[in-house]
Amino acid sequence: MTVENLSTRDKKHLWHPLTQHKLNKRQLAIVRAKDALLFDENGKEYIDGIASWYTVMYGHSNKHIVSAMTKQMNKLDFVMFSGLTHEPAIELSEKLMEILPANQAKIFFNDNGSTAIEAAIKMALQFYHNKGELRDTLIAFENGFHGDTFGAMSASGLSSYNGPFEKFLLKVVRIPTPQENNIQEVKSRLAKILQENKCAAFVFEPLVQGAAGMKFHSAKGLDELINLCQENNVLSIADEIMTGFGKTGRNFASDYLENKPDIICLSKALTAGMFPLSITSCSQAVFNRFLSDEVHKGFFHAHTFSAHPIGCAAALAGIELLNSPEIAERRKYIESAHNSFATRIEKHEKVGNVRVMGVILAIDLNIEMERYGNLRDDLYDFFVERGVLLRPLGNTIYVLPPYVITNSELQKIYETITAALETI
Ligand SMILES: *Cc1c(COP(=O)(O)O)cnc(C)c1O
Repeated sequence: MTVENLSTRDKKHLWHPLTQHKLNKRQLAIVRAKDALLFDENGKEYIDGIASWYTVMYGHSNKHIVSAMTKQMNKLDFVMFSGLTHEPAIELSEKLMEILPANQAKIFFNDNGSTAIEAAIKMALQFYHNKGELRDTLIAFENGFHGDTFGAMSASGLSSYNGPFEKFLLKVVRIPTPQENNIQEVKSRLAKILQENKCAAFVFEPLVQGAAGMKFHSAKGLDELINLCQENNVLSIADEIMTGFGKTGRNFASDYLENKPDIICLSKALTAGMFPLSITSCSQAVFNRFLSDEVHKGFFHAHTFSAHPIGCAAALAGIELLNSPEIAERRKYIESAHNSFATRIEKHEKVGNVRVMGVILAIDLNIEMERYGNLRDDLYDFFVERGVLLRPLGNTIYVLPPYVITNSELQKIYETITAALETI
């Protein structure tokens, strides 16, 4: 059988991310995808309940996006972005300016989420360096996730990812996320950190910490923390790699804030999952600090595939869909369906906190962490056997479907979760 073949061949030469290969079973071989569905080699279908790590928000193999990319490929495939420029990048910068918070002025291109964060951190450090000031400390939230390159890993709080590299990381001081009941406490922690360290930037996932288990925090609290940074002349960096492009109910989570971040990182849904591309946007004030008659005060940072025209074309086509009437309607529908489901299951004895923001639904299981170890794998298998792809994070089951998911597909996800609760 061909599925056997792919899985067997996979084992021979491939090393998968986030995988302990000694313990791991076979990898599911996917041969085709359309809208919210994935198909394995036997033709068995799976509902992609997490939009392939929250990227393919307009659905797999979206015709509009594929056609824009094909057109671009046939016209201009790729040129380097240093000394040269091209229309897809220019147009994308213009379109992003229309939807990003109004204080954003410049777009720097990278090729994935981690490198967008890396560029943001380097921008912040050089921002002070260019003024002749040494600032060596970053501030970040506990349990944040910002990627797996060294700067991004430093800002991240998840120890299983960055534990072995602890000695090699940048200096980062962590604060808890602001909740309704601890804003004053977190503010005074931050004030003390700002006083005792030479802080360059505060890096955070605004409103929702994705990898931590879709944990929410207070917009008002975050606003006050950014404000405190502004008062102390410390830059703020919003990692909107997960939250960007409509998932929280608005275009960006930063749209819920009054104090806008100086720097914003976008990737994942930026290209609707069609192409690896990311951007680091910044305010005019940040950009201006790099203007000088001295060449070395420029930002000497580049990736070969910066502003890849095919990625830019995918992003432009995605932005056209983002606030289209059909997608806007689907986003509203998903949010209200999530809310009804949340109301239905929140009293279940195995369910703890249930939360919804935009198309994000998170269900914390009310079980001891000890049991959770294998349970997470069992849950994953339970879902996959029933044709639903969900990847629980810690003791949290989350759903973050493509906007184009159908009503019945969404109901099937809810039913499968309900059935799973009965087996725990
Ligand atoms: C996925 C993610 C990253 C890292 O992006 P990669 O493209 O995987 O390097 C960083 N921050 C957040 C919030 C993410 O969700």
